[in-house]
Amino acid sequence: MNHSGTLYVVATPIGNLQDISLRALETLKTVDLIAAEDTRHTAHLLTHFGIKSKLVALHEHNERRAGEKILLALASGQSVALVSDAGTPGISDPGAVLVGMAREAGLKVVPLPGACAAVTALSAAGFEQTHFLFQGFLPASGAQRRRTLECLREQQAVLVFYEAPHRVIESVQDIASVFGGSRQILIARELTKTFETFHRCTLSQAADWLRADPNQQRGEFVLLVEGALPAPQGEISPDAQRVLQLLLAELPLKQAVKLATDITSAKKNALYALALELEKTEHD
Ligand code: SAM
Repeated sequence: MNHSGTLYVVATPIGNLQDISLRALETLKTVDLIAAEDTRHTAHLLTHFGIKSKLVALHEHNERRAGEKILLALASGQSVALVSDAGTPGISDPGAVLVGMAREAGLKVVPLPGACAAVTALSAAGFEQTHFLFQGFLPASGAQRRRTLECLREQQAVLVFYEAPHRVIESVQDIASVFGGSRQILIARELTKTFETFHRCTLSQAADWLRADPNQQRGEFVLLVEGALPAPQGEISPDAQRVLQLLLAELPLKQAVKLATDITSAKKNALYALALELEKTEHD
């Protein structure tokens, strides 16, 4: 394999080591350098597969500094594999900075696909909505988390969250309080590992289900939440109503309706009728 000067972005397993690809093994074996989020963690993986390539650390606190050294190695013709602790680098993991630097320097970047917790959970979810929106981790602070969720409430796509065990109940509660209790959630825990569990229920039931069994609060989580249903024909979503209200406060009715139609996907006639109603209420 001639891979001089190439940066390989290599996905590694999220639990079950047999999920590593043949191409990933071959690449990790033959590159000059492996840039790893945690060298000790990756050393275990390499030992398991009898791989002896040299490791360097590249994590969120040194990504740019370490990236510059790696760029020099690449520019001198060496090949480098980038890995994170688990799954696909750059997905809620370091990697984007180094890849961006390599691209800017005109170097070759080759991705090696493999495990990713989000896609693994989605493949076993059975949600019929075809779009999904990857949010990853929600903010740790409750107020910020709820603000983020409010921005996501109207999304008509399956929402994908990563969550840590000590915050999973809090997050599920906040999701239910912002989105309402009737949507479906799939709690995917410990994917590809011994205690892999899936539980699908309504948002109103999810926190109680987790609370009922401390074992279900352990390990790693992906939460998939059904997206908003499209507003029935003629109905206007709460977000579109808010846009219209804000515009009406500043602009003449016709202009406000035109802009609101452009900004939201609501029907012009429905917005027009609502604008007339709002103006009437204001003058009553
Ligand atoms: N880069 C990884 C990927 O491609 O999925 C994600 C890394 S992120 C730092 C770690 C989070 O991913 C965990 O807190 C959890 O939310 C999710 N995750 C990773 N492995 C998982 C697993 N085996 N089962 C469930 N969730 C997992």
